[in-house]
Amino acid sequence: MQLHCLGTVGYHPNAQRHTSCYFLPESGLLLDAGTGVFRLAPLIQTDSLDVLLSHAHLDHTCGLTFLLDVLFESPVKTCRIWGEKDKLDAVRKHLFNDLIFPASLNAEWMEIDSLDEFQIADTTITHRPQDHPGGSVAYRVEWPKQQKQLVYATDNTGDTSDEMAQWGHECDLLMQECYFRDSSAEWAKKTGHCWTSRVAEVAQRIHPKKLLVTHINPLELCDDPVDLDVIRNAVDCPVVLAEDEMMIEF
Ligand SMILES: [Zn+2]
Ligand SMILES: [Zn+2]
Repeated sequence: MQLHCLGTVGYHPNAQRHTSCYFLPESGLLLDAGTGVFRLAPLIQTDSLDVLLSHAHLDHTCGLTFLLDVLFESPVKTCRIWGEKDKLDAVRKHLFNDLIFPASLNAEWMEIDSLDEFQIADTTITHRPQDHPGGSVAYRVEWPKQQKQLVYATDNTGDTSDEMAQWGHECDLLMQECYFRDSSAEWAKKTGHCWTSRVAEVAQRIHPKKLLVTHINPLELCDDPVDLDVIRNAVDCPVVLAEDEMMIEF
């Protein structure tokens, strides 16, 4: 499977990175819709586009307004936007308010609240609530035929529970956010984000085959924004720092 990193920071873009957005072209699945959405059109290979929203914060949704251009350049037959009802309602009411964005999007809005499991293209998807202001969800995407699993866990404080460890157990790719270094761990807890050592703990519990560190702090412009060696020394799988326009195979 291929995963394209279209936007890899939280909060706001910087000179190197756009806000959160990842694409799985083989299944037409977009994970969140931050400003990185403008990179999507040439990668679309399917008749359908399905967007999984972790929550409604702007760094994950503002790119929904870019879809008009994306779908003009690469038309699809169906476009669906999946998420919790209160988040979808907020996006429709506020982001797509006439005074904010005066055009309507030809998309179906799909509420996941009462769905234990749902199918999109060749995948089966489940979700779990996460600790984050207003709440967010983590998604597990499974490709039964290829026997591949991906866990997308962004905007959380690092779930080290038994339930999470079981749910994500030995997935092929774990995408875990890391907004802060350990020196800002207290601030991370207050703002509902994760920090370096906590990412290592989450990965130690889940045992992914590959770990992709995402949702970087946009104020960090150096090559190693999260002290990656702390994580690498704690886990036995490859650890990759997400970069815009990087393609990951798993
Ligand atoms: Zn975010
Ligand atoms: Zn958030």
